[in-house]
Amino acid sequence: MSRGTKIVATIGPASTDLNVLIRMIRAGVDVVRLNFSHGKAQDHIDRANLVRQAAAECGREVAIMADMQGPKIRVGKFEGGKIDLAKGDKFILDAKWGENGELGNQERVGLDYKNLPNDLRAGDHLLLNDGLIVLVVDRIVSNEIYTTVKIGGELSNNKGINRQGGGLTAPALTAKDMEDIKTAMSFQADFLAISFPKNATDMEMARQLANIAGEPYGHKPQMIAKIERAEAIPALQEILNASDGIMVARGDLAVEVGNAAVPALQKRMIRMARDSNKFAITATQMMESMIFNAVPTRAEVSDVANAVLDGTDAVMTSAETASGRYPVETVEMMSAVCIEAELSEYNKLDADFLNVRFTRIDQSIAYGALFTAHHLRVKAIVALTESGSTPLWMSRHNIDTPIFALTPSVTTQRKVSLYRNVRSHYLVQQGTSAEVLKQAEDLLVAEGLAKKGDMIVVTWGSPMGQAGGTNALKIVKIGEFS
Ligand code: PGA
Ligand code: MN
Repeated sequence: MSRGTKIVATIGPASTDLNVLIRMIRAGVDVVRLNFSHGKAQDHIDRANLVRQAAAECGREVAIMADMQGPKIRVGKFEGGKIDLAKGDKFILDAKWGENGELGNQERVGLDYKNLPNDLRAGDHLLLNDGLIVLVVDRIVSNEIYTTVKIGGELSNNKGINRQGGGLTAPALTAKDMEDIKTAMSFQADFLAISFPKNATDMEMARQLANIAGEPYGHKPQMIAKIERAEAIPALQEILNASDGIMVARGDLAVEVGNAAVPALQKRMIRMARDSNKFAITATQMMESMIFNAVPTRAEVSDVANAVLDGTDAVMTSAETASGRYPVETVEMMSAVCIEAELSEYNKLDADFLNVRFTRIDQSIAYGALFTAHHLRVKAIVALTESGSTPLWMSRHNIDTPIFALTPSVTTQRKVSLYRNVRSHYLVQQGTSAEVLKQAEDLLVAEGLAKKGDMIVVTWGSPMGQAGGTNALKIVKIGEFS
């Protein structure tokens, strides 16, 4: 069964194992996410090597996403590792606490973002531990934030803090991120995810740093903006313009804008990404209960299916595969849900498909191929591609024809691993276009993707081998050519 929607799996202690990784890849992982909020540089380098090894054993290209920690604001550590806060308790967040090694207690705790007291005012709501605890700010006295507990619970070491409504001034790239970008480029991470960007400038700066760090390796990563700040919503179009794709980062986003606003925002973000020729990943808590259980809840199944119907390029796992008990089963389940959702009558060709205005030759060929493939009901679309830009155009619209990107570039193979409906195969493109077309046909047949007599649509650039040079389209009946 072929699946169009891609699967991004976060790895961690539960999946840092060659055999588990191989099983996860066989179950359908397209992109592996390394979460730089945890672990040291060397851990990520080792994990990246392990992923490349597992992918090689599976005979597949699996891309790597390095996800930067960003300016997530956290409380310090506690004497006993944790405290219990009850409704009505008074509690102080103290930016200076811990400077001399003091640990937190029932009265106060330190903060890793020393500027927080300056960003807040009385009446603000602070959400800790992904919103499980809510504190209301009573007053600020220099470095101390005096609060009253509105919703209590257990607060343990290094839990995150968000301000409801957003508006914290912490810059998107921390000193740690800048070091981590270098680490990620040393193993040529295919995708670089930036946490908490609030505008295009944040993304432009991150891209610049990544390109500089990647230069010794001749590598430029695809840049992903994680949309998880309230301020990022009004700036979405400019952020999209400065990025290659976005992540609907529902964990932090829900804390800042409120849970109830997220489903509609998810739909808008995915729509806007596709309209801007960018990809979208839907993330966080998709199969949350599978951290402990071998089967997901009905609500989780619906969530994954609905993300597919919203048009997401990829669905993502977090703790399910990083630290959960069932990493392989989670991927199997996600894959099955995606396949079924894609078959549904609601997964339709976009209504606005006919209103697209063409600005480029390769874009025109890409859409021409889609239109032809859809109405002629061909078996497959084959894009002979150097940079992957033609399959990107093609995959921005929902059609049920598989798109095969045949490319002589492994980097491109990994890049398209996030594009919905696109599967890549390695093909050296040498010789005349007639010869290459014949090789492409042979490859499709050899891989069992098409058989003699099947009609396919092929696009390529003449002369061959130039990025962005796609200018030709041909309808081919396999076996009748040459
Ligand atoms: P995180 O990002 O897992 O790095 O926090 C995703 C999210 O916030 O949803
Ligand atoms: Mn986040």
